[in-house]
Amino acid sequence: MFQVEYSDPRYKARDMLELILNKIMSGKTPDMIETTFLLSLKKQEEIQLLKRVARTIRKRHFGNKVFMYGFIYFSTHCRNNCTFCHFRKSNKGLVRYRKTPEEVIETACHMADSGVHLIDLTMGEDLKFYSQHENINNDLHENTYKHLHENTYKHLHESTNKHLHEAMNKHHHEWMGNQQPDGMKTVVDMVSSIHAKTGLPVMISLGKIPVELMSDFKNAGAAFYACYQETHNRSLFEKIRKDQDYDERYNSKLYAKKAGLLIEEGLLSGIGDTIDDTVNSLFEMKSMDADQTRSMTFIPQNGTPLERHPYVDPQKELLTISVMRTLFPDRLIPASLDIDGLSGLRQRLNAGANVVTSLVPPGKGLAGVAHSSLDIEDARRTPESILPVLEECSLVPASCDDFNHWISMRKLSSCITKPLNDSPKKYNKTSLYVENYPTLSAHQNDADLFTVNGHACHSATP
Ligand code: SF4
Repeated sequence: MFQVEYSDPRYKARDMLELILNKIMSGKTPDMIETTFLLSLKKQEEIQLLKRVARTIRKRHFGNKVFMYGFIYFSTHCRNNCTFCHFRKSNKGLVRYRKTPEEVIETACHMADSGVHLIDLTMGEDLKFYSQHENINNDLHENTYKHLHENTYKHLHESTNKHLHEAMNKHHHEWMGNQQPDGMKTVVDMVSSIHAKTGLPVMISLGKIPVELMSDFKNAGAAFYACYQETHNRSLFEKIRKDQDYDERYNSKLYAKKAGLLIEEGLLSGIGDTIDDTVNSLFEMKSMDADQTRSMTFIPQNGTPLERHPYVDPQKELLTISVMRTLFPDRLIPASLDIDGLSGLRQRLNAGANVVTSLVPPGKGLAGVAHSSLDIEDARRTPESILPVLEECSLVPASCDDFNHWISMRKLSSCITKPLNDSPKKYNKTSLYVENYPTLSAHQNDADLFTVNGHACHSATP
């Protein structure tokens, strides 16, 4: 439990919010107590100040540039039964689909032409997708697989993280069961084709996958592995991610990081989580050195155990995005179109997000996740449709070079930082990306300092 102590001698009589915001503006990140304080803000005036600080920090590290991700949910089949998910196995009240690799590649090319910076390949844990394609992928010879397996584990053996190795070994056997890896090769090949044809990096969001293939995915052109814990409260995790192993899911991201992929971690807001849970999640994200951190509001789904869950106010998600920006100044934070569609984009960007995610092209028969059809077929989730919103927020789309540069710098930064199991307090990375913006310095003038009680704030607008 984190108690906010207004009588904390560090703060004396000074206003705590002012002190925290000025600390953030001076280039530091809030500690757990301060993070709890920020997530507890209720007054609109104070929340708006926090958002302005978040935008200023974003500008310091990314200028006015925003990245855009094309989203391809290529199989809506899943073996799992997450209580919050529309596509859980037990939900019989929906039509599911499974796209062919050719359809996926064609859609990815279409999205690349429309201007996105990354292709996000997402599926449920659909074992059939893999088995369906086993025969056409028998070019992955057993010996090749054996070689891959040996090399991967050799790397792990050589590392000092024995615990992670053991956990991943267990994970592999439980995941694969009787499945052959050949089917997975289909997805690796898809990533490879998409990367070759579009020149774009790929994010894989395939659920828990055999860890041996992480390196293969990386070599094929995957830059990110996304696998959301949704909460880092273990008892809540057990309730919402039914019959899934907390540690396996968590460790899969550590393994991906070791294999050279960037990682995205995410949490779901409004599903029984407390402020302490959110603080804990944010510091877990720091601990795992997440490269992209997302917060999304829970949307009750028909045909699920939580379909009658009360409406969740997205303000909590927005506040979390702003606090994330203060904790992860130089990282990617999504403004997802999946929750409120195009109409919710402005407020997410104004909270400090710097990536527009869940762009889905119309006419391809593709679904979203939280809102399976919102804004898709009327073309409100395309790069073109978001441009006016970016303009309103004084933002512009980045170039592909900008994005690739950011990825390279992050990978470099990850390589030179400490091992994953170090205390998050030991991480102290400075932004390398800022070099791209010569008009910005890592610590702008003290004119940026905030005051809470009526003085003008020199910060990012609007
Ligand atoms: S959240 Fe993912 S793993 Fe869980 S049921 Fe939905 S698609 Fe499957």
